[in-house]
Amino acid sequence: MTKDRVVPARMARAPRAMTRRTVVRNAAVALAMLAGGLAAASRGALAQVVRVSKAVAQYQGHPNNGQRCGLCAHYRFPFGCARVRGFVSLHGWCTLYTPRG
Ligand code: SF4
Repeated sequence: MTKDRVVPARMARAPRAMTRRTVVRNAAVALAMLAGGLAAASRGALAQVVRVSKAVAQYQGHPNNGQRCGLCAHYRFPFGCARVRGFVSLHGWCTLYTPRG
């Protein structure tokens, strides 16, 4: 005596094989994500590499006509700068000043 087993429809279907199109599409997405990650990483690394000395940037410890590090896009709280090496004051200024957008 055998019992008939009822198999749900979703289990009866065989798993779909990956088509060439699916493989190519997934590879393209993975490459795009990798390229984006590398680009972001290299931008960050480049920002570290291109930091210059205070002398080169003509840094001064006081504002210049209302422009100051605290209002600059390169300023990194509390005492850093993405473009100039070393201690940078919130109230300093240099020729690389770029207003925050
Ligand atoms: S003004 Fe110069 S030193 Fe100050 S945060 Fe901007 S780039 Fe850096």
